[in-house]
Amino acid sequence: MTPLAYTGLGLDRAPAVRRDPLRLAAMLADPRAAAVPLWRDLSLVAGEPPRAGVVAGPDARRLLGAGLEPVFLGLAEAGRPVFAVDISAMEAGEAGPDLGGGTRFVALRACGPLLPGGDSGLLGYARAVLLWHRRQRFCGACGGPTASAEGGLLRRCADPACDAQYHPRIDPVVIMLVEDDGRVLLHRQHPWPPGMWSVPAGFVEPGETLVEAVIREVREETGVAVGDVRYVTSQPWPFPSSLMMAFTARAVGGRLTPDPHEVADAAWFGRAELADFDDRHRHSGEGRFLAHPGTVARLLLDRWLAGGMSAIG
Ligand SMILES: [Zn+2]
Repeated sequence: MTPLAYTGLGLDRAPAVRRDPLRLAAMLADPRAAAVPLWRDLSLVAGEPPRAGVVAGPDARRLLGAGLEPVFLGLAEAGRPVFAVDISAMEAGEAGPDLGGGTRFVALRACGPLLPGGDSGLLGYARAVLLWHRRQRFCGACGGPTASAEGGLLRRCADPACDAQYHPRIDPVVIMLVEDDGRVLLHRQHPWPPGMWSVPAGFVEPGETLVEAVIREVREETGVAVGDVRYVTSQPWPFPSSLMMAFTARAVGGRLTPDPHEVADAAWFGRAELADFDDRHRHSGEGRFLAHPGTVARLLLDRWLAGGMSAIG
């Protein structure tokens, strides 16, 4: 079973360092400092099979000097500081700047599940926080500019009279495996490639609990009423800033009536039918396949296929 992508960040986030401007400056000047660059929408990987592209030595200092407001991600082994840096301003061809050493810039969404767990966690964290910086350059309260603070996990309005503070944005999403009598509820969303099916999911809305969000989403998309909602696990999803929170639930009523505005289709599937789903159909344009290995949707389904609801929690 493929482990969850974008988890397992192996860094000490070192909040005491983050909040101390002098220690932060020393970390940035440390010759061992490493840089995790993001160029426009692309992340850096190295080698084959790919690993996270982490730039060290003089090259790292060059990137940290050239990029906008480096973000302190934390301390790696032996206290080595690791920063994320947005180098989008660097001139380059379509494939991004050539940083040498067998590295290349790639779309993380395609490459993330191929990386070792902690590596995709590192690139996902860097991507999520740097994209947030790009989108929070101005204060939502007064419209003035904001500035990075606390090593990059805060932005503050530059006008002391306003002093609004902004934390990195995280959008909560519930995603749920709904079972009824040995079958699971799957749906298709309109933008998905032909043949792809997965479990329902949706953004949490203001004023509701996670359990209420699970119940509402399933009912809105499919007409099915659910209960016995249980938390399973969660997965950061840096496209750009979601946190997928996974649950199981049981159908307790309602009738399957997919809402065509919400979903392209929805249906119940038993184990025998799911056995015909095949990842090789992803590129063939024929047959059915499930969400990509490494996603929490796939984890829910693989565990259910392996042993039912008792194998999930
Ligand atoms: Zn302001």
